[in-house]
Amino acid sequence: MLEVKNLSVSIGDREILKDFNLQVADGEVAAIMGPNGSGKSTLSYVIAGKPDYEVTSGEVLLDGENILELSPDERAAKGVFLAFQYPVEIPGVTTMTFLKATLNAIRRQRGEPELSIPDFVKRVNKAAAKLDIKPDLLKRAVNVGFSGGEKKRMDIFQLAFLEPRFAILDETDSGLDIDALRVVADGVNALRTKDRSFLVITHYQRLLEYIVPDKVHVMAGGRIVRSGGRELAHELEKRGYKDYVEAEVA
Ligand code: ADP
Ligand code: MG
Ligand code: MG
Repeated sequence: MLEVKNLSVSIGDREILKDFNLQVADGEVAAIMGPNGSGKSTLSYVIAGKPDYEVTSGEVLLDGENILELSPDERAAKGVFLAFQYPVEIPGVTTMTFLKATLNAIRRQRGEPELSIPDFVKRVNKAAAKLDIKPDLLKRAVNVGFSGGEKKRMDIFQLAFLEPRFAILDETDSGLDIDALRVVADGVNALRTKDRSFLVITHYQRLLEYIVPDKVHVMAGGRIVRSGGRELAHELEKRGYKDYVEAEVA
């Protein structure tokens, strides 16, 4: 369903993604691992449509349609979701209000009417039931004063609520504590369906002990340098990225 074809991306005069190729099937959980600076976050931003990146060649096809020509809002309306690596805090806006505005923006984009209050509440409850979310978190201002684990919980809650078709989770290189890892992993596992795909980007193998990916890709120097099954993550845990980093320098 998602196909990245010959994608090259630059920032300024620096090429970051180099003729990058990737396919993620319906219902697949694909992991991308790789050393710091290999272009993992750039890939997720380009798929989601963040500005500032210059696509010099290639395409990103979602169900055969090149989404690179669409605005970030249009991509969200098609079901592309990016969990923020660094969540924004929005003082004075409750999570409930924020979710409602986000969903209604997507619905407007799709030409659908706004959700009624009862339908909105139903949808919130449905998402909360899938995950272990305390309702009081939803009444607080978005991410304000949230712990790392609570922020992750909100990210995953947004995912459950918005029901995207293609979800990208870009984890920080600084690493999550074990509780936050479990939140992310349990959330992804609870939200896996046969037509929802995930791209889980992580520097560490640990997360993949809890989310069992269908495929693992190693990224170095702006390209996929190796692909395999979950066993590849274990191999990386033992050997690290040095083979790939050295290969890139050579
Ligand atoms: P990763 O997520 O794998 O750590 P990134 O995609 O964040 O990698 O970065 C890839 C490379 O692009 C790095 O060398 C980084 O310094 C560079 N880069 C990323 N964003 C910018 C930017 N806004 N301006 C200049 N260089 C950038
Ligand atoms: Mg990085
Ligand atoms: Mg990154």
